[in-house]
Amino acid sequence: MAENRLFTIRRRVMLIYTGGTIGMIRNPETGALETFNFAHLQKHVPELNEFDYVIRSYQFDPPIDSSDMQPELWTRIVEIIRYNYDEFDGFVILHGTDTMAYTASALSFMLENLSKPVILTGSQLPIGVLRTDGKENLINAIELAAACDENMRPRVPEVCVCFGQKLYRGNRVTKCNAENFNAFTSYNCAPLAVTGININFDETLIRHADAALPMVTHTQLDNSVIAITLFPGVRADVIEHVFRFPGIKGIVLRTFGSGNAPQKEWLLNAIRCATQDGKVVVNITQCQHGAVEMGLYATGQQLLAAGVVSGKDMTVECAVTKLMVLFGRGFSAEEVREQMSKCLAGELTE
Ligand code: ASP
Repeated sequence: MAENRLFTIRRRVMLIYTGGTIGMIRNPETGALETFNFAHLQKHVPELNEFDYVIRSYQFDPPIDSSDMQPELWTRIVEIIRYNYDEFDGFVILHGTDTMAYTASALSFMLENLSKPVILTGSQLPIGVLRTDGKENLINAIELAAACDENMRPRVPEVCVCFGQKLYRGNRVTKCNAENFNAFTSYNCAPLAVTGININFDETLIRHADAALPMVTHTQLDNSVIAITLFPGVRADVIEHVFRFPGIKGIVLRTFGSGNAPQKEWLLNAIRCATQDGKVVVNITQCQHGAVEMGLYATGQQLLAAGVVSGKDMTVECAVTKLMVLFGRGFSAEEVREQMSKCLAGELTE
């Protein structure tokens, strides 16, 4: 027994606390919720002492509400991961729930050939209140970040969101509930793992990067993108203005059903001009389930003919951040168009 322990290599997990509800406790004197110093995490979550892992933490100073998340901060997270990549077996990012889906999507494109888990989690109730969901989410996320097979290979070497007993692929999630403990769902991709009595992994879904390839980080993002939701009665002049706007390079068009839009000449014309102008227009559906299929109806076919690219079953969070990363990498409009319909990190069903 003692001999075995001698050869046990302790798994190493790095926690990156960016902010959000999870890192809050109630001040006993004032009753107000305040962020606590993550260096004292073990004090607030004594259960962590039961893990036989080495856990280190890094705290954003000041911690931010995730509504204030910005591409520069995604770059910072990626740089922290890159700097500590060889030292740790997995990374857990504590993040507010409001924009977690955007961060998870962005990171999935910024960390190419990732071969270690990067698990985002947060909570609906602060860790310092009695009924918090934060402890369970944090403990599950740490366990998943450290999980490995008998050859010490990580079980889930992807950017994921761990929330409410599910592990989702990060670029597939959407925040769907503002008050329930199941705040996230992934409409077009089943969970990669479910944490019940046991952790059940879906090996058929989990992606493993080619171990021979080194991780490559993409830290430049270009936010010259916009998402537009179509609705009956949308004003032509407003749409035309956005499509003509000189600084914009990528437009995510949230269409109806299987990718349909009003059969209006002004709309098709705005799209044609934007495309000729080197802008990339990506079609995603407002429906939660299912994908864009522009060949299905005349309304969709017209979009295709006007130069619109299919975003298939990507979420809006994913389409917007994918455009930012691709333009940030310096790809031409033609290259971005081609990459947007391709699966780069499990973000769409081909
Ligand atoms: N407003 C908070 C945030 O996103 C909510 C949360 O943490 O869940 O930072």
